[in-house]
Amino acid sequence: DLFVFQNGREFSVQLPGNKKRRPVDVAREFFNRVIFERVDAEKLASGTAEVAAGKIVMATVKGDVHDIGKNIVGVVLRCNSYEVLDLGVMVAADKILDAAIAEGCDLVGLSGLITPSLDEMVHVAKEMQRRGMTQPLLIGGATTSRQHTAVKIAPAYAQPVVHVNDASRAVGVAANLLDATSRAELDTKNRAAQERLRAVYASKQEKPLLALEVARAKRTPIAWRAEDLAQPAFLGRRELKNVPLAELRPYIDWTFFFSAWQLSGKIPRIFEHKLYGAEARKLYDDANRLLDELEKSRALQAHAVYGFWPAASDGDDVVLFEDAAAARELARFPMLRQQRPHDDGAPQRSLADFVAPRESGLRDSLAAFALTAGIGAEELARKAEAANDDYRAILVKAIADRLAEAFAEMLHARVRREWGYGASEQLSNADLVDEKYRGIRPAFGYPACPDHSEKQTLFALLNAPAVGITLTESCAMWPAASVSGLYFAHPQARYFNVGLIGRDQASDYAARKHMPLAAVERWLGPNLAYDPDER
Ligand code: SAH
Repeated sequence: DLFVFQNGREFSVQLPGNKKRRPVDVAREFFNRVIFERVDAEKLASGTAEVAAGKIVMATVKGDVHDIGKNIVGVVLRCNSYEVLDLGVMVAADKILDAAIAEGCDLVGLSGLITPSLDEMVHVAKEMQRRGMTQPLLIGGATTSRQHTAVKIAPAYAQPVVHVNDASRAVGVAANLLDATSRAELDTKNRAAQERLRAVYASKQEKPLLALEVARAKRTPIAWRAEDLAQPAFLGRRELKNVPLAELRPYIDWTFFFSAWQLSGKIPRIFEHKLYGAEARKLYDDANRLLDELEKSRALQAHAVYGFWPAASDGDDVVLFEDAAAARELARFPMLRQQRPHDDGAPQRSLADFVAPRESGLRDSLAAFALTAGIGAEELARKAEAANDDYRAILVKAIADRLAEAFAEMLHARVRREWGYGASEQLSNADLVDEKYRGIRPAFGYPACPDHSEKQTLFALLNAPAVGITLTESCAMWPAASVSGLYFAHPQARYFNVGLIGRDQASDYAARKHMPLAAVERWLGPNLAYDPDER
């Protein structure tokens, strides 16, 4: 037993030790954490059997900037006596694996939010195999899935590869992986489940798709009429700098705030929840106190750039023009079309369907936007981390994300007014959250337009860097609390999922985009109904 004194109080700690860790090492680690990390000795001691249960290196992969989920998992693991080496965001494979080896980590955890990160995770797995590593690999983050982990990542690495998308599961999985007996058991079950998922995936891919030309003939039927086309109050781009947070706050969708913390429910019912109502209330109060503070301190800034342009569809491309006469083309967004046949005879949709075709002779328009509420967020979070306040660091990022989404909602309302048709709108926040308005704001990377790389065209059109927003090599937006997309005004415009596409469409799209097919296949990996390596 070890006796520890902190703030004049005494705790007795049993030092479990095991084959890999001698009690003296556990003791040293315990002291380091109490003294250097200022961890509460009482909390550490109460989990006696788990003192330094294991060491995990975690990182958001190269090209990706999202880390709220990863940070929450890190806190949960630390609270359960794991030593967490968090390398942050945009971390290259080599750096993660070098650290895992140099620091003697027992586990490697990868996180990512956007689809290009899935490919990067496969790359990390391949590197682990090449280096002959033995640590199990944990995969988490919004676009990761059990299926992708089974189909693409697990086959690249001989050791256990486990998809863990739920912070509360992370501790159990980590514990099981660190004990030889339960590791074997988990591994057997996990491999069997992944084999089943690969079979399901293979059968999905066998379902026939419509040929691109057939799908095009079934585009959304729209009877184009001048009176359905909105005419904007101005043309070109405009910047909104330093929008007061107080103006954004009423548009916050709190449901998504709670889901970032893995609590589900709507205000105010969530506060009554038997298990976590009190916790939800505390989070909500803390978030609002932080918002009050940020409104005063102005430590977080919100900027946007948006604009309206004359537009037409040209086949499956959406084209924006510099002038009303549509003489000079300014930007072209090639869109994808659904090829999976619909049983109910619904159209095979593409976003290009919602803009008047060139040959209609009608004057249509489109709006585009990029905005951020995250200027200053990184610095605030770093300060909180330096003060050992992980909770505040996560809260800052979660609130910045919420403000960015709120900003997108607010800007959309403004765009509808400036397009005219929204001028007489009377919608509550609940109506806005339920999108009870005319028009949509598809965001690149989402199901109707899954190609993140189109953000490059969008950002050039808007000159988004002028308001402080840039793209990583995977086309993640920086600061992370940013939103961008297109605004469509047509009453029939709606969201849908492009889903799986065939080789015919991938080639056609590559030609329209002036990009090599192999590059297109990388950006659209999860949408391919075929294996690009099988030629
Ligand atoms: N109120 C939520 C909104 C975010 S998710 C929040 O505060 O987080 C909804 C947004 O995702 C939409 O406004 C749109 O920009 C995007 N989106 C949703 N479904 C989409 C689809 N099928 N295709 C493209 N974009 C989509």
